[in-house]
Amino acid sequence: MDAGAGLSRRGFVRALGGATVGAGVLVTGFDNATRAWASDAASSSGGGFDHVPHLDGRLLLDSADLAPFEDDFGHIVHRVPGAVLEPGSVRDIAAMIEFCGPRRIAVAPRGQGHQTFGQAQVSGGLVIDMSPLSSITVDPAARTATVGAGALWSALLTASLAHGLTPPVFTDYIELSIGGTLSAGGLGGTTQHFGAQVDNVVELEVVTGTGEVVLASPSRRADLFHAALAGLGQVGVITRATLPLIPAPTSARQYTLTFPSVSALAAAQRKVVRDGRFNWLEGAANAVTGGGWQFVLEGTAYYDGTPPNDHALIGDLGYEGTAQIQDFSYPDFVDDLAPAVAFLKSTGEWFDPHPWLNIFLPDAATDAYVTAVMDKLTLADIGASGVVLLYPVPTCKLHAPLLRTPDSELTFLFAVLRTAAPDTDALPTATMLEGNRALYLAAQALGGTQYPVGSIPMTSHDWRIQYGDAWQFFSAAKHRYDPHGILAPGQGIFS
Ligand SMILES: Cc1cc2nc3c(=O)[nH]c(=O)nc-3n(C[C@H](O)[C@H](O)[C@H](O)COP(=O)(O)OP(=O)(O)OC[C@H]3O[C@@H](n4cnc5c(N)ncnc54)[C@H](O)[C@@H]3O)c2cc1C
Repeated sequence: MDAGAGLSRRGFVRALGGATVGAGVLVTGFDNATRAWASDAASSSGGGFDHVPHLDGRLLLDSADLAPFEDDFGHIVHRVPGAVLEPGSVRDIAAMIEFCGPRRIAVAPRGQGHQTFGQAQVSGGLVIDMSPLSSITVDPAARTATVGAGALWSALLTASLAHGLTPPVFTDYIELSIGGTLSAGGLGGTTQHFGAQVDNVVELEVVTGTGEVVLASPSRRADLFHAALAGLGQVGVITRATLPLIPAPTSARQYTLTFPSVSALAAAQRKVVRDGRFNWLEGAANAVTGGGWQFVLEGTAYYDGTPPNDHALIGDLGYEGTAQIQDFSYPDFVDDLAPAVAFLKSTGEWFDPHPWLNIFLPDAATDAYVTAVMDKLTLADIGASGVVLLYPVPTCKLHAPLLRTPDSELTFLFAVLRTAAPDTDALPTATMLEGNRALYLAAQALGGTQYPVGSIPMTSHDWRIQYGDAWQFFSAAKHRYDPHGILAPGQGIFS
């Protein structure tokens, strides 16, 4: 089998031999909230934080302390906050929001800052660093975990495995905050069975835009519950979540199967998602040395003791060449991006700009759309450490009203995860952003939506199309729970 340039999620480290070391560059970018290009020296209101309430934690005002909060994983948009709250308690968050509301000081909760287009940033306002709220309590009898919203999924994996349990759905990268992914959606290879992370929540504690602390669940303050999940921080700060756990397997066997075209990959994915044979299913396009792409299905079967029957799982899938089969312990499988991330950090590539595109396509449009995109896409369009993902999700598994997917029984998540590494052949960040916009508009015309964690310049009109028949619910919840309009302006939805 052609080893290609090794750009699969798991293989992309191999592609980086001799890669240029990036240097955490400050790239002036498009301001998603103001619909303008942001400068690195965004304005600060200064002075708005006199006479703040007594806090259990700390309010950071020094520019050196604020610096990490002027950036995110995208390294495209840079906004200087006026202050950063390191909460010592939920009460601190409530008190500061109550302080900020009448003063119209914008407030952005920030988990790990891994959205890529300034979504967790705020010019002159207050950033709430959620990381101090990182408690995790596992109740093995109830099979639930109650977590502070700043806790990382990696920490929850460790804590739950101590009881032989696991959350049903992980994102591919698990050093993300639980509040951050519950605000976005949280998709992974088990979403085909369990829905998104937002579909796996028992109860939330939310501090609304008026500073009210509310417990919300499907049966209690349900409107707030449903507006907070995948709500992109618009109606409140999620401070605590109770999440279901399921028994954890001990081992995982992963199959990587190569297909010659988008259509062949998608056909195999449709087959296996229909019969549910894999516990975990994703897919990717890998660059081939000398040009072009090959397409891979990544399917994983979990097991305890006896390994799965390979022939039964992959014998009828019609892949090319030899299947790659690899066994992992379950925790190593869930955290299998860790070595790649460590490598990218060591080369500096992790700190280069990431103008990412994530869109959901209707099943019927997927083959033609993705084929057309991949026919034109080159390594320069995604950068040497760029990644392209394609995998299906049955929409009947997705119940959170604000996680917007096409009106189709099956949707494909198509992600063009670009890295604009300077001093390489990669296209400049601005060109990649223009590419994202064009691809998004083409998908929108076909009934596609964006998975809003990346870098797509959006207009107010686009957001209305994005939310479709949920727009009225979302805007009513925004009006009710954030009447001052201060929360998470970096998303640019209601500005
Ligand atoms: C390397 C990498 C891999 C990824 N892989 C996946 C994947 O496999 N699947 C997937 O679904 N996503 C994936 N993502 C996207 C990721 O899920 C989102 O970007 C997520 O929002 C990041 O969490 P965070 O803690 O960094 O949030 P942040 O970027 O800090 O915040 C995101 C948004 O949510 C708001 N917010 C943050 N915390 C809270 C809170 N407690 N209450 C209310 N609002 C809040 C912020 O204001 C901001 O608007 C990946 C991202 C990266 C960088």
